[in-house]
Amino acid sequence: KAGWIEVVCGSMFSGKTEELIRRLNRARIAKQKVEIFKPSIDTRYHDEDIVSHNASSIRSTPIHSSEIMLSLAGDCDVVGVDEAQFFDNGIVEVVNTLAFNGKRVIVAGLDMDFQGIPFGPMPALMAIAEYITKVHAVCMVCGDVANYSYRKTAAQEQVMLGETDSYEARCRKCFHS
Ligand code: ADP
Ligand code: MG
Repeated sequence: KAGWIEVVCGSMFSGKTEELIRRLNRARIAKQKVEIFKPSIDTRYHDEDIVSHNASSIRSTPIHSSEIMLSLAGDCDVVGVDEAQFFDNGIVEVVNTLAFNGKRVIVAGLDMDFQGIPFGPMPALMAIAEYITKVHAVCMVCGDVANYSYRKTAAQEQVMLGETDSYEARCRKCFHS
């Protein structure tokens, strides 16, 4: 029996990590074996834990390359991945293989970078997923539904780890103004 792929996407502060943790905890309540991974570059709050902005957290394994998931996922039922946008495109094949091998794979990540451009492997992951959930933040300027991550500094590199000091959620109109 094959598994499937679920993607949880949205801007910063949209609740992707919260939603990922919620699904993984519920799988655990159902006595399913869960493995959770994150890219090792994301050490904002904690080396190992995945931590949401509302401070809920879950233990994860930081990995340098998505291929490592194939050996570490072992006999688990559910695989969770946070900050998937930071992996290279190899993650698409890895996630596909895990799903073919019967696992439920839940992938959370930013769908757009600070310029509003699709982020890394996320578009390809969304294309192969059975289920996609787009979650939204609240625009810090006007209070509308926010789907963009606005960078408050002049830095131009795509990957710049930061929090409310460097980013805020914004709606379409306030992001572009
Ligand atoms: P993500 O993983 O998508 O960055 P998290 O799950 O870590 O999001 O955090 C979601 C939490 O962020 C919310 O429950 C709320 O407490 C907090 N938060 C901070 N700023 C905002 C905002 N502008 N809109 C919505 N939630 C926000
Ligand atoms: Mg998150």
